[in-house]
Amino acid sequence: MLGTFENVSAAAPVVSVRIGKSLRAINVTGLDLKRHLLFNDDYKSYTGKQTVKFNCETYTTLNKHRNTPILLATLESPTGLLSYGNIKYKGLFKVVTSPRGDSCDIINDIPMEDYISSLLTKEMNSTWPVEALKAQAVAARTYALHKMQSQQVSKELGSEAFYDLESSEKHQVGGAFFDATDTTINASYATKGEVLLTGEGKLRPIFFHAKCGGRTLRPDQVWHNKEESYQSVNCPFCHGIGPKNWSRVIGLDRIKTFFRWANNQKLLSGPLESDFSSVVLVPDNIDRFTVNFYINDRPYIVEKAVLRRYFGNVVFPSNSFSLEMRSGGFMINGEGLGHGVGLCQMGAFALAKQGWSYKKILAHYFPDHVLKKMY
Ligand SMILES: [Zn+2]
Repeated sequence: MLGTFENVSAAAPVVSVRIGKSLRAINVTGLDLKRHLLFNDDYKSYTGKQTVKFNCETYTTLNKHRNTPILLATLESPTGLLSYGNIKYKGLFKVVTSPRGDSCDIINDIPMEDYISSLLTKEMNSTWPVEALKAQAVAARTYALHKMQSQQVSKELGSEAFYDLESSEKHQVGGAFFDATDTTINASYATKGEVLLTGEGKLRPIFFHAKCGGRTLRPDQVWHNKEESYQSVNCPFCHGIGPKNWSRVIGLDRIKTFFRWANNQKLLSGPLESDFSSVVLVPDNIDRFTVNFYINDRPYIVEKAVLRRYFGNVVFPSNSFSLEMRSGGFMINGEGLGHGVGLCQMGAFALAKQGWSYKKILAHYFPDHVLKKMY
């Protein structure tokens, strides 16, 4: 079912979401289950509520000399619902062996709009204004459709992965049937098939984050990958709501270690002398994407996102912060949560409360993208 979107332009796509990985055993429960084992084309029907168990360690022989994942089985119920790990899911399950065959992954094939309906409660909150949820629905649908169409997961694996997305922080979280509420189902189906395309009409990833802290960032300002049509836009809307402002102190020794690392990675504006003693900060403010230093009296520029990449998301919850020199180190004051690229969820929340429509919200954060209904 991978990548069906390209071929069936009128039908809503089915997205394959990996909901469990590297499992030794898998138990699937459902009513009147139908199980299809693909390696010997064996069908079995179960009557009433039953649990089907897969002992994943026993399939090593199937994978011998192949070193690629194998689609082992599919499971369906006429009710359209299946349980795994005490969580109910809509759609069908696929059981896939790991490349070496010593464990399995479980994948949920789910219609896109149902996937989005459950995702909204995890990535936002079902009590949020519906126009904010709709904006998030369009962003998450675009992200998912891009993953499907580009077959990115399979490309990274080097063979067919049988899934498009993981339900995890790595991609986006969603899929459980009972997470969806009337409001999130409404937000998903009211925007059915709608995605944001680049100004040139291309389907590319749409990013979102919890709170930008005053201004969103372009992908190249954070990850160095250039993405067409992205703009850095002002977002005074998220000030004072959601995640609290943060501050940290970082000692001079750690800053010096950072500079050595950044120098090795060629992330400084110029090469650094191996032996340096004085580090002086040029006065900084939160609106700047870069920090200027003098090291041994020579000027250097480094991007703030590089500091976050090195020190991590716990020390730097966002890319929106200012540095201040203190005796023995640096004081860092920041606002926001997340990478800051694309849709600011707290900003969307505030704007929806003010009566903005999802189209107006999306047009603010993605001024050069175009909203399009794909199916
Ligand atoms: Zn914001």
